[in-house]
Amino acid sequence: MNKRIPVIAANWKMYKTKDEALEFIFAVNGNVPERSQVESIICAPAILLNLLVKREGEHLRIGAQNMHYADEGAFTGENSPAQVKTAGADYILIGHSERRSYFGETDKDVNLKMQAAFKYDLTPILCVGEQLADRESHQTKHVLDAQLEKAFDKIDASKAVKTIIAYEPVWAIGTGKTATPEMANDTIKEVRAKVADLYGSEIAQSVRILYGGSVKPNNIHELLKESDIDGALIGGAALESNNFLVFTDAA
Ligand code: PEP
Repeated sequence: MNKRIPVIAANWKMYKTKDEALEFIFAVNGNVPERSQVESIICAPAILLNLLVKREGEHLRIGAQNMHYADEGAFTGENSPAQVKTAGADYILIGHSERRSYFGETDKDVNLKMQAAFKYDLTPILCVGEQLADRESHQTKHVLDAQLEKAFDKIDASKAVKTIIAYEPVWAIGTGKTATPEMANDTIKEVRAKVADLYGSEIAQSVRILYGGSVKPNNIHELLKESDIDGALIGGAALESNNFLVFTDAA
């Protein structure tokens, strides 16, 4: 089995001005662990990408939070995959629940963005997750399986293996409610089993699967102790540079 290098990814959402972003990056860029130990990533608003990429240093990496799937076109206000890539981003969040629910992003859009990410050599951080009603009606597996099947449509195994999947129960994002480590681990095992269905067990064992949803400095350690949780995608708590370093050290 391949060793899975842990991933800590901050999702800044629509927070931070230029000066705040600079303050953060100067606080963390020389202080994250080596990339061979942990992949430390900041997913920033598109307008801050270039500024951050210039200062990312040796071990930190920058990702974007969204892009259009088209190569280029008359899509006012959007950013193309090539623009994201040439701004210096290496990663792209795809299918975050806030994009799905507030911007009407569909599974089809998610799949087109997955294809575009690989075309432009961006590593997708694919977000999947169930709503509270899905969990309460025991539909979690069904919902996640459907999201994964659609996201990976037309993606071959050599690309799929590079995808980072973030399991983010929608009811835990920004709410202060965290899935218990056991619950998160059990669901991530189901996600891995679905990847095995689609691509075989060797690829499933190599794919990194993160947990996201109200991760904080006081729960990261217990989450990362679980067998199948390969890191975390963190929103609110990762806006603080000190916290970000706690997360990367914990991984
Ligand atoms: C997120 O934005 O992906 C997220 C998990 O947010 P939070 O950590 O604030 O719940």
